[in-house]
Amino acid sequence: MEIKVLKDILSANDQIAERNRALLLAKKVTVLNVMSSPGSGKTSLILETIRALKGRVRIAVIEGDIASTIDAQKVGQEKVPVVQINTGGECHLEAGQVGRALDSLPLDQTDLVLIENVGNLVCPGEFRLGEDKKVVILSVPEGDDKVHKYPLLFTMADAVVITKIDLLPYTRFDVPAFLQAIGGMNPQARVFQVSCTSGEGLGEWVEWVTSVIRK
Ligand code: MG
Ligand code: ZN
Repeated sequence: MEIKVLKDILSANDQIAERNRALLLAKKVTVLNVMSSPGSGKTSLILETIRALKGRVRIAVIEGDIASTIDAQKVGQEKVPVVQINTGGECHLEAGQVGRALDSLPLDQTDLVLIENVGNLVCPGEFRLGEDKKVVILSVPEGDDKVHKYPLLFTMADAVVITKIDLLPYTRFDVPAFLQAIGGMNPQARVFQVSCTSGEGLGEWVEWVTSVIRK
């Protein structure tokens, strides 16, 4: 029974995701769905991406959180349009919430929407939002074994970003083992190694973001 209910929810979600997609195609807006567990550095990566592309790409942000507007306030300080979605306890964003957020963004003046999904490495992957690319972040302190513990998101990812690489000397995060695991389960995924603290690797990441923006 439960399985059937989940299927119905997912197919209803997919229909709305298709509507979002049609709107975004019509408006020539590219969307990245950024997913990770809490504290992996989604907001930091979004902030650095906005700063790097300032004046070149018109960015808007949708911030998904269970509660609070802390991240939305940080992003708003960069003077980009930002919409906060508080899920009220739900651990992922759904297409309907994103559709309503898109309605309140100036899509005619937007090239790229960055969606910061709710911090969770599990179910956000099950809910399509109408995005062009899925970005999954794993931070060095979380450990390279998370790719095996939460394979779904890593299997779906178009890009995997290892963040906080400045902390590599202080952890046992095994970069070659991680790269090998990703290569085995999702050879198409682009993998980036960045530090928002030192700036290392951000250039390559920003170049990829630029390359996926719909012309
Ligand atoms: Mg955040
Ligand atoms: Zn969830």
